[in-house]
Amino acid sequence: MKIPGFSRIEEIESKFNISIPKEEKKKLKRVVEKHPMFIPDYYANLINWEDPKDPIKNIIFPSLDELNVSGSYDTSGEKENTVLTGLQHKYRETALLLVTNRCAGYCRHCFRKRLVGIPTDETLKLFDAALEYIKGHPEITNVLISGGDPLVLPTDVIEYFLGELSKVPHLKFIRFGSRVPVFYPMRIYEDEKLLDVFSKYSKPERRVYLVTHFNHPREVTREARKAVDSLIRSGVPVSNQTVLLKNVNDSPETLAGLMKELTSAGVIPYYVFQCRPVKRVKSHFQVPLKKGYEIVEKAKQMLDGHAKRFKYIMSHKTGKIEIVGIIGNEIYLKYHQCKNPKKVGKLFKRILTPNAGWLDDLKPVNREEVFV
Ligand code: SF4
Repeated sequence: MKIPGFSRIEEIESKFNISIPKEEKKKLKRVVEKHPMFIPDYYANLINWEDPKDPIKNIIFPSLDELNVSGSYDTSGEKENTVLTGLQHKYRETALLLVTNRCAGYCRHCFRKRLVGIPTDETLKLFDAALEYIKGHPEITNVLISGGDPLVLPTDVIEYFLGELSKVPHLKFIRFGSRVPVFYPMRIYEDEKLLDVFSKYSKPERRVYLVTHFNHPREVTREARKAVDSLIRSGVPVSNQTVLLKNVNDSPETLAGLMKELTSAGVIPYYVFQCRPVKRVKSHFQVPLKKGYEIVEKAKQMLDGHAKRFKYIMSHKTGKIEIVGIIGNEIYLKYHQCKNPKKVGKLFKRILTPNAGWLDDLKPVNREEVFV
């Protein structure tokens, strides 16, 4: 699928009449050589190019901060959870398929930066082999089709995935992880065939869901609302995962504004993710946990119950850890999901320092830290 957009810095300069100093441009090109830039036309028009601090620009336009390589390219342990090329099985009930390395736009904060938009051997090669694995594991109740972005694939391919997965009796639901409603919403509401496919396979007995990724209230445009509405009318509930990002949505007002826009559009707030300590992302985007918790709680004070159904989560290699609370210099955490199912629901605490951004930065309080 060809998506109109910009992959060269010069194209942005000429289209939006901006000029980047020569030295800076040289360095930005080094960044883009490592991790490609692609800004869909539609999304580029949401940016105020005259504002150097524009939050939408920060999401998608490369930055010199990406030259900082502290962190890791696999913060969630994806390699160790890969059971077949392109198939991960971390949590008992969920199989994760990486079906493509392409996206409708490349987010600078992507936690799969190691593979999006660049040659990779991590995406699915043999769908049939993945299907056999899923069929052979009756504990798997749901499949998350991700990538990259699966909605950049042809509709026929999406239909094939849904058709085959729908034949697996123990699958209760199928999810797509997609940022297309944000980057290229017309791909959804202009493709009647895609909507027919969703209607065909999203049934009362086995629902198809779409989990999307809005980060800022300005992304919830008329077009994005139309895409969400088309999905809902096709029987596909839409939920949202936001990443808490420095200089994008790291204020209670912005976060609360986003949740209000999402709920008014019919999108269910699902997670606010702590930004992972990914190479070329961590120093650019990660908000310390202490500050992040304050932002999230202040945002919740501005919201009704419906809009604050999300959890503030750290997607750690051991599991999804909910950031439950802070008292003094202690942070309280809980395994919302865990590789080890026995730990799901376990509450524990760690010593919090002002700049800590990840579980690994937190010191244990004592050896009995898991106390429930
Ligand atoms: S759309 Fe998703 S997978 Fe693609 S670059 Fe953005 S965060 Fe990464």
